[in-house]
Amino acid sequence: MRIAFIGLGQMGAPMARNLLKGGHSLAVFDLVAANVAAAVAAGAQSAASVREAVSRAELVITMLPSSPQVRAVYLGEDGVLAGAAPGVPLVDSSTIDPHTAREVAAAAAAGGNPMADAPVSGGTGGAQAGTLTFMVGATAALFDRIKPVLALMGRNIVHCGPSGTGQTAKICNNLLLGISMIGVAEAMNLGHALGIDPKVLAGVINSSSGRCWSSDTYNPFPGVMADVPAARGYSGGFATHLMAKDLGLATEAARQAKQTVPLGALAQQLYQMASAKGLGGKDFSAIIDLLGSAP
Ligand code: NAD
Repeated sequence: MRIAFIGLGQMGAPMARNLLKGGHSLAVFDLVAANVAAAVAAGAQSAASVREAVSRAELVITMLPSSPQVRAVYLGEDGVLAGAAPGVPLVDSSTIDPHTAREVAAAAAAGGNPMADAPVSGGTGGAQAGTLTFMVGATAALFDRIKPVLALMGRNIVHCGPSGTGQTAKICNNLLLGISMIGVAEAMNLGHALGIDPKVLAGVINSSSGRCWSSDTYNPFPGVMADVPAARGYSGGFATHLMAKDLGLATEAARQAKQTVPLGALAQQLYQMASAKGLGGKDFSAIIDLLGSAP
C-alpha cells in the first residue's frame, strides 16, 4: 500500500521504519530535513510538502507534537484535507485533546475522508520494537480497515469507541503515568537520602505494593536499570515538555467535564517547572532532578 507518513520524530521515525519493513511504500514529510533524510535512507520517498506526500497515498498517518500542529497539517491550505483523495482513510497517532480530534475528524468526514484518532503508548522502545498499544477512536468499519497496518507498528490495537475516545484513553493513561513517575522519583530519592542502596530499594518496591511501570520498567534513579533514559543522562524517550503538554490536555479536559484532578494539576505544574528549568528536552523521568537529591 502507498502510505503517507507525516512527522518523523522520536516516535514517527521508528514507526515509519516498521511500515517499510512490512512491505509498504512510504511518502514522508517532516519540517526537519535530517529526519526526512534518515527515513529516505531506510527506503522511504521524500515529499516537498504535506500536500505532495498525501496526494497519491492510499492511507495517511501523522505523528505530530500536539493539537496546533495537527490542525495545521490537516486543515492548512496545503494540508492533508486539501491533498488527500476522497475516501482515503486518515490516522492521527499524535496525542492531542479529544475535542480537536473530533473537530478535525468531522472536517475530514465532510470532505469524504474517514478519520481515526489512534494515539499510542509504549514509548520509543515500543515504537522501535513494533509493540506499541494503539488506542483507536473510529467507526467499527474504519477500525477494521486500518488495524492490519497498525499491527505492523503495535501489538495491542484497541478499539476504544467513536471518534475522540482513543485520545480520551491516552490522556487518562498519561495523567496516571505523569503522577506515578513523580511518586517513584520521590520514593527513590528519599530512600537514597536515608541510606538504602537504590537497586535494593527498587527491588523491594517492584515485589511490593508500590510497584508500577515507572518503578519496574522505567525507573528514574540512575544506575538502577540499564537501557532506560536514567542510564543515559535522560536522553531520548518521552520529552518532559510533552508530558507537561499531555497533563495540560488532561486537566483542560477535566475542566470541561467538571471533574477534579488535583494530583494531575500539580504534576502538570511540576513538569512545566522542570521544562522552564531546562529539562524540557530530556525524558520525563528527569523530573527526579527537579525534586532534589539524585546523585
Ligand atoms: P517529536 O517532537 O520527536 O516528533 C514530532 C515530529 O513532528 C518532529 O520531527 C517535527 O519536526 C514534526 N513536525 C512538527 N510540526 C510539523 C509540521 N507542521 N509538518 C511536518 N512535521 C512536523 O515527538 P515524539 O516524541 O515523536 O511524539 C509525537 C507524538 O507522540 C506526541 O503527540 C507525543 O505526545 C506522542 N507520544 C510520544 C511518546 C514518546 O515516548 N516520545 C510516547 C507516546 C506518545
